[in-house]
Amino acid sequence: MKRNYITFSKNIFIPVTNVCRNACSYCGFRARRPEDAYVIGMKEFLQLLQSRGAATEALFTTGESPEDAYFSSFFNDRVKEEAGCSTLVEYTKKLCTLAIAHGLLPHCNLGIVSTEELEELRDVNASMGLMLETTAKLEAHTNSPGKDPKVRLTMIEEAGKLSIPFTTGILVGIGEGREDHIRSLEAIQSLHARYGHIQEVIIQPFWPKPLTPMWNRKSPRVEEMREIVRAARALLPDEIAIQVPPNLTSPKELIELGASDLGGISERTVDYINPEAPWPTEEELRRRIAPFELRERLPIYPRFIKKRWYSELLSPLIARYADEEGLRRHDGIERF
Ligand code: SF4
Repeated sequence: MKRNYITFSKNIFIPVTNVCRNACSYCGFRARRPEDAYVIGMKEFLQLLQSRGAATEALFTTGESPEDAYFSSFFNDRVKEEAGCSTLVEYTKKLCTLAIAHGLLPHCNLGIVSTEELEELRDVNASMGLMLETTAKLEAHTNSPGKDPKVRLTMIEEAGKLSIPFTTGILVGIGEGREDHIRSLEAIQSLHARYGHIQEVIIQPFWPKPLTPMWNRKSPRVEEMREIVRAARALLPDEIAIQVPPNLTSPKELIELGASDLGGISERTVDYINPEAPWPTEEELRRRIAPFELRERLPIYPRFIKKRWYSELLSPLIARYADEEGLRRHDGIERF
């Protein structure tokens, strides 16, 4: 299935917590000191939902397994005090339910969670995600048990068994080699061949962050990004979109090589993972990729809407937002 348009989604970006059990050498998101630790509160979250503008997606990003992190007591106390919860999954599930009540379709990326937790989150998520990043064992992941490629591939496989529309991707420039890109893409392709659940593969360039061990490493060169996008398009089936982030790349030249999705952009919230790189507006995006046509999608791709890979709970919102092709309805006939 060849696409003749490029897609994107309108989201609000919700950093549930920056407390994380891992310590990836390139990460600028994780709290390194107790005084920097953060958990979104209910009041702040509700304010965010109320100012959602035209977004249809609530993108939840968190540190991984904060219950096992160095500052776990901060996390545990906050989620208990805010909502009587004892785990990240329990708290995020509550936030997802509230987001749905406010007309948003959740997409969670919580890092590694168990199969039971995936099952719990499935009903309140239009799709979920976990970056594979790489199948290589890297120095940057020495202190990150959740970045073991086997652990990540297992979770992506479990999501496939549960028929969860899934987003994954590779992170380029964190110490891996060219052959690792191919191995990583092949691993994703092989899981998709078995379960058919991968909706998009993000090709994400590493972006150095101040005060991290990799602050002085360079981002991948444009030629390298071009080569990987070309390889990904050749290797993955057409039904999987290749996504490139428009705030970290020059999207048009990557679209010419096979990229077909620009991910989520937000009018209201910053990219908390790369806060120094502002989102382009929708109009800017249209200008930057012309003459390619830009169309808005939901966090669940049309293919999975047709196959009804979503819960009854999400059904009214999907019916309200999706047009006949499964993209975002813009004919003013939202069905309530
Ligand atoms: S798992 Fe994610 S949040 Fe945690 S240290 Fe690694 S990149 Fe940062």
